[in-house]
Amino acid sequence: MKCAMLYGPGKLKIEEVEIPSIKKGEVLVEVRAALTCGTDIKTYIRGHPVLIRSYPSPFGHEFSGVISQVGTGVKRFTKGMKVVAANSAPCGQCYFCKKGYVNLCEDLRLLNGAYAQYIVIPERIVNKNLLEISDHVSFEDAALSEPIACCLNAVCQSDISPGDTVAIIGLGPIGLILTHLYHLNGAKVIACGKGEKRLELSKILGASLTVDAEEIHDETEEIKAVKKLSNNGRGADIVVEAVGKPDTWEMTVKMVRRGGLVILFGGCPSGTSFTMDTSLIHYEQITIKGIFHHTPKLFKRALDLISSGKINTKAIISGRRPLEKLEEAFSLVKKKKGVKYFIDAFYK
Ligand SMILES: [Zn+2]
Ligand SMILES: [Zn+2]
Repeated sequence: MKCAMLYGPGKLKIEEVEIPSIKKGEVLVEVRAALTCGTDIKTYIRGHPVLIRSYPSPFGHEFSGVISQVGTGVKRFTKGMKVVAANSAPCGQCYFCKKGYVNLCEDLRLLNGAYAQYIVIPERIVNKNLLEISDHVSFEDAALSEPIACCLNAVCQSDISPGDTVAIIGLGPIGLILTHLYHLNGAKVIACGKGEKRLELSKILGASLTVDAEEIHDETEEIKAVKKLSNNGRGADIVVEAVGKPDTWEMTVKMVRRGGLVILFGGCPSGTSFTMDTSLIHYEQITIKGIFHHTPKLFKRALDLISSGKINTKAIISGRRPLEKLEEAFSLVKKKKGVKYFIDAFYK
């Protein structure tokens, strides 16, 4: 089979390898759609301490396909079924799983290798995070379940009231999905990002107002711009950071109104820190939440949402490319020519 292998930062090869064999409880999936993701692009450029522990390594984690083989003991799935798998599954046994924080499981075991013609789904994911896709849902749309599940994690912890102003900072793939989901949940979204194209897309996905960060060169101006558009200058009810830079975190906490909620969604490089005025926490009583990953419940909810037809997947998936053009797809996204690309390893 064809498979993309990472040999180090920036070193990617498309190779011909053996189709992997499966063990008891596992399932082999023929990958019909894999999607590019910001995390994969970062991993390709600079490596990833958690996702890639050694080289060479397969990678890619947003995908769907058809079951081509089932291991002994697998009951719920059969050959030929259309499925989507999450890139992890919680253990159910550890301290955090027992407390109900399953996204913080001590043993998530992240799955990699979607940029290939076949992928083995480990037993735990088969049992907890493998879902059948309805006939009317396309493979590429279903593959959006994972990023949408992550974004639903933020939305579900936001306690939105109708008409709340939500500012989304950063309009990469995740920022755009967040814009869409908050809009679908009744919020008035202010989308802040760089470049006309991304701002246009944010409007298509439901943003009521936009702030072009490229036109603003000073952080205080950006804070002012967001505040001016929300609650008569008081600040947004909710602000979500979807960039993952300490400087942006610092800016984001200053955009919320008194008593408001700040969600720090974008993960920063490990070891970094940020500072903030203590009065924001005490006298202005703002709440700050970090959001990480997803849960089996959210993953299912994401697929249900996609199946309902409410998600504008056409605005998020920018085009189809063969596996051989994976690097090209990454560079297109880096240049903001597209949001997510559908990688088709069987492209003819
Ligand atoms: Zn992803
Ligand atoms: Zn656990």
